[in-house]
Amino acid sequence: MQKYGGSSVADAERITSVARRVAASAPGNRLVVVVSAMGKTTDGLVGLAHQVAPSPAPREMDMLLATGEQVTIALLAMALQSLGLRARSFTGPQVGMRTDRAHTKARIRAITAERVRRALDEGEIAVVAGFQGASDEDEITTLGRGGSDLTAVALAAALKADVCEIYTDVDGVYTADPNIVPDARKLGRVAYDEMLEMASLGAKVLQSRSVEFAKKYGVMVHVRSTFKPDPGTLVTKEEQGMEEAVVTGVTHDRSQAKVSILRVPDRPGIAAQVFGAIAARNVVVDMIVQNISRDGYTDMSFTLPRGDHARAVTALEEIAATIGAQGVAHDERVAKVSIVGVGMRSHSGVASRMFATLAGEGINIQMISTSEIAVSCVIEDKYAELAVRALHEAFEVGRGANR
Ligand code: ADP
Ligand code: ASP
Ligand code: MG
Repeated sequence: MQKYGGSSVADAERITSVARRVAASAPGNRLVVVVSAMGKTTDGLVGLAHQVAPSPAPREMDMLLATGEQVTIALLAMALQSLGLRARSFTGPQVGMRTDRAHTKARIRAITAERVRRALDEGEIAVVAGFQGASDEDEITTLGRGGSDLTAVALAAALKADVCEIYTDVDGVYTADPNIVPDARKLGRVAYDEMLEMASLGAKVLQSRSVEFAKKYGVMVHVRSTFKPDPGTLVTKEEQGMEEAVVTGVTHDRSQAKVSILRVPDRPGIAAQVFGAIAARNVVVDMIVQNISRDGYTDMSFTLPRGDHARAVTALEEIAATIGAQGVAHDERVAKVSIVGVGMRSHSGVASRMFATLAGEGINIQMISTSEIAVSCVIEDKYAELAVRALHEAFEVGRGANR
């Protein structure tokens, strides 16, 4: 199983070089290749949709977004054929990628992969469109941004592939985004749980749902470069020695917004009412902070994806009036920086060192959350890169234990 991301298939020339790379691994292997839309096609399509409608219907959005991947599968199949190989392209629905009906963030229910198996049996290379599927009603759905990773991992599980290779524009998973931290180091191995935290806390090199899926079905994932032959990073079960480094990675997420509801009467049932109103608008909140109550009132703040910000504010303004809160404050641009590592389970003082590091750079922490293997802070967006570099330096992540 191989998957090539958007930048790897950004133009005709790159598609041809991907075809050559696929051809090189074809002899002796039954090969399935999953591809993303070319370059920034998906972003372009999202932009177009918003030019014709302020809030496009999710069903039509999926109809639109699924076209991106369909272009790439046809072109790659043609490129492979012109190298003398037998290849056939398939859409998500054609390979039996069955999902629920949650348009733009559908979950996989089942994969028959019948046509892929048949193509492989006939000696063909199967080229499959990532990111897309169909509901039981035959409606086209998509699996959330970055969802081609999930297609690849899910197909790898269904077909019991030896390995799921994710080819991308970096040569592996790094201790921080190599595009902003020059000292970032490539990890030879990373545990599923660490990768899951890193991905959900902003390291977009793998979609977090794909990591969840890989862990659940024990799919070995190999993240590597499309442009270089070197081995990349293996995402695997936790192994001995992995706990030696306290912090394995530093991540950041600059796609968040913060909303607060001010002076809320502090009585039972209020939180349920507030978050019920948000949930009713299909907004998923992330961090939640409630201040201690003074004089019977309290403030509640939470973070959410920036795209949901406007909807959440409208919902909260309505609910604020109903429950007698003073009002709503919001900040459309905040960033979340996080440190991740399975070693944190057995070390103390990690969080306080993180706070001291941020303080040393004069960065104010607005919210904090912790899990067993991660600590995250919400800060002003403009400090995101500075914070990541400072934390990477302070925890010596670039010089960490070799793995
Ligand atoms: P693709 O188009 O191949 O799916 P993505 O753009 O989704 O590629 O993911 C690759 C990008 O992820 C890299 O270019 C890099 O900027 C970013 N990235 C963020 N954090 C990390 C990290 N810790 N290690 C590697 N890449 C990272
Ligand atoms: N093309 C989709 C996106 O940009 C899916 C993917 O690339 O993984 O989100
Ligand atoms: Mg991606």
